Amino acid sequence: MSSRPSPRVNEINRPFWEACNDGKLVLQRCLSSKCAQFVYYPRVCCPHCGGGDLQWTEVSGRGRILSYTAVHRPQHESFYPEAPIQFIAVSLNEGPLMYSRLLELSSDDGDVLDRAVQVVFVDHGNGDKVPFFKLVRD
Ligand SMILES: [Zn+2]
Repeated sequence: MSSRPSPRVNEINRPFWEACNDGKLVLQRCLSSKCAQFVYYPRVCCPHCGGGDLQWTEVSGRGRILSYTAVHRPQHESFYPEAPIQFIAVSLNEGPLMYSRLLELSSDDGDVLDRAVQVVFVDHGNGDKVPFFKLVRD
């Protein structure tokens, strides 16, 4: 069994991954007062207004499931033991869309579309943590 593929950390996204390792979800936020939108994935300039001043900001880690699917045949063999993987598109409360995985899904959960989720940080096996999500249970 090969090891899991690691996130490709670079100069632009390094603060994101370092925050994950500290158990925090951070997004870039545009410093233009006319824009002020959150940005994900990490970039060098704002995709909304083109401004170049982005600041890393800790966010709630909460959102809603916009779409999901079960992956029965992962592309990388290191994920085979975890299949089926619940792959989700999360609409974060701060605005951006993030693709991730839904953990701890049970057969009693039914349709998860539009359900509230909360980020959890999971060890990726090499000491690094990655952001996944679990349902918010009232
Ligand atoms: Zn902007």
